Amino acid sequence: MKIRVLGASGSKLPGLHLTSFLLDRSILIDTGAAASMMDFEEQKRVQAVLLSHIHIDHSLGLLLMADNLVGCLKRSIQILSVPEVLDGLRQHLFNNQVWPDFTSIPNNKAAVFKLRPLSNGRPAKLDKYRIRAVPVSHSVPTVGFIVSDDRSSFVYTGDTRATERIWQEARHAKNLKGVLIETSFPNRMQQLADLSGHMTPNTLAAEIAKSGLKVPFYVFHVKAMHLEEVQREIAAMKNPQIRLAVEGATYTF
Ligand SMILES: [Zn+2]
Ligand SMILES: [Zn+2]
Repeated sequence: MKIRVLGASGSKLPGLHLTSFLLDRSILIDTGAAASMMDFEEQKRVQAVLLSHIHIDHSLGLLLMADNLVGCLKRSIQILSVPEVLDGLRQHLFNNQVWPDFTSIPNNKAAVFKLRPLSNGRPAKLDKYRIRAVPVSHSVPTVGFIVSDDRSSFVYTGDTRATERIWQEARHAKNLKGVLIETSFPNRMQQLADLSGHMTPNTLAAEIAKSGLKVPFYVFHVKAMHLEEVQREIAAMKNPQIRLAVEGATYTF
């Protein structure tokens, strides 16, 4: 499986792009930078979106892509997540106030988006992939994903503070190749990180140790104004498992 990093930043400033990853050209994992980093042809190829939660830095691309793609799709794009996240999407974003309800435009049958609820932790099939949504610990309902194909698996944490269940599930994932993990704030802001449901480099190190996983951990979602400080703190830990997810790079899992 190839993962292209469309955006790996926790904030938007010129040259930095919000969280979004593209799996094998047709599946988005969160959408922060999707509309600004993919051209129209690439957007038309998207078949499904794995949505961790509805915060704007992860859902923005859904709103903008819908506007681009309406009337141009042969079939609806599936949005996969747990019911709490999909309900929030309908209630707070596609509510005909903040944005038109693109789950029923142009009509129910041929809408831009079709919502596909996933059961907590239970695998769902999507083409050749098996997708598991696992609840994590953030300020709103949020899931991480464990994605597998016939050969291998990877984990995407979404936004979370210290968490537990996704590591239990990941230990049983078939041929796990890597983890995409959030880290947002420097260590001196641990209290704010805990309150807002995010990690610091100290949390990151503790989570890696707790997980027992021996694979690379690619860090995303660092807040731009603290990027250098977080990079320094991560470098000082000298943990060979930790890498920063680089925007524009492609990783093979
Ligand atoms: Zn969030
Ligand atoms: Zn976020």
